[in-house]
Amino acid sequence: MTILLGCIADDFTGATDLANTLVRQGMRTVQLFDAPTDAVAVPEADAVVVALKSRTIPAGEAVAQSRQSLDWLRTAGAHQFFFKYCSTFDSTPDGNIGPVAEALLEALDADFTIACPAFPENGRTICHGYLFVGDVLLSESGMREHPLTPMTDANLVRVLAAQARHPVGLVPYTTVALGSTAIRDAFAALRAEGRRHAIVDALSDDDLLAIGEACLDLKLITGGSGVALGLPENFRRAGRLDAGSVADSLPHIDGPAAVLSGSCSRATLAQVARMRQSRPAFQLDPLKLAAGEDQAAEALDWARGQLADGPPLIFASAPPEAVRAAQDHLGRMAAGELVEGAMARIASGLVEAGVRRLVVAGGETSGAVVQALGIDGIRIGGQIDPGVPWTTTLGEPALALALKSGNFGAEDFFLKAIACAP
Ligand code: ADP
Repeated sequence: MTILLGCIADDFTGATDLANTLVRQGMRTVQLFDAPTDAVAVPEADAVVVALKSRTIPAGEAVAQSRQSLDWLRTAGAHQFFFKYCSTFDSTPDGNIGPVAEALLEALDADFTIACPAFPENGRTICHGYLFVGDVLLSESGMREHPLTPMTDANLVRVLAAQARHPVGLVPYTTVALGSTAIRDAFAALRAEGRRHAIVDALSDDDLLAIGEACLDLKLITGGSGVALGLPENFRRAGRLDAGSVADSLPHIDGPAAVLSGSCSRATLAQVARMRQSRPAFQLDPLKLAAGEDQAAEALDWARGQLADGPPLIFASAPPEAVRAAQDHLGRMAAGELVEGAMARIASGLVEAGVRRLVVAGGETSGAVVQALGIDGIRIGGQIDPGVPWTTTLGEPALALALKSGNFGAEDFFLKAIACAP
């Protein structure tokens, strides 16, 4: 197998978001979970995205896992590499974006890369090096209060400089607006000054396409999924990627479907309410789980009786007051782990019962389900709603999976997803 683009993502649903962007730009894309080993049989693909969970782990571990993934991607033939992080530049005060980017540069024997988390479609824009979320600075957005990675400075040059050993520069919007040649010249000038990183301003998808074109000769690019928009075209222009290739075709998968929801985001709560209007549902309750009630077994017994009539919904999703009550009683982490553990057991039981198409809501919840099912990787198919594609698993039995991070998807997402399953 020879892949063109090798990607490393610092979290799970972020990896799928990037893979979805690449597929939509015509690259056949496979996502692998955790640093891959040689034992994983990967089908023919133009891009591989390795999904790590390295955003908040100690920097040394994040570097080690990223290096291991890089080695695998190089062996698989990748020509260019992409380090994907969140469009809100989520990182702890000591890293991991800077340390991982520098370790990858060193391993690639390269001395310059960009950092561009902009994602204008989702309201993330960069101007004069400052990251905006909608119309407020990152540091005035909800990210200020994030439990794991609070972002209190919107100036990305400063934030990255604090995490990096080498100097950080800026390609300002006035240069980006001039197009790819001017951007490439700015890269060369910063590199000549000894700057190893450049924050690149971007306000629109057109900016991202120009930046992508300017990245043609960079070994490593770092950013959000947005800046990957312009990369496939470089391979196409070089004749390495077919102009008319169909990137999103998936094998057809037959079998009963089910929906598991462990996300408590506003979008997911509306999706759960909508599905309950027309389909039967079973509710998990962390307080009952903590009291020793075997709700996973009850939910499975119940679901087995429903499968023949259409997809059942099993959900723990609850409004903020109920989540807070459970967390106050059990602790935040313990409440989450109880629900994730139950969801993982239910997913395994459903597959044993013959389910072959699963929709899962929640980033952490998806992680728990993928792990319980022993899935090494997925092939990325067509988009259901922005940022959420259908996927099929690489191993046996082949499953169709739709993994939705909390805030994604329209209100009718669950049944719409099943109606367009591969
Ligand atoms: P999102 O993508 O919306 O952030 P996640 O699955 O990543 O969703 O996170 C939701 C977390 O909330 C999970 O750890 C899940 O187990 C937990 N959870 C789900 N339902 C409840 C509940 N009723 N009370 C407390 N925690 C819950």
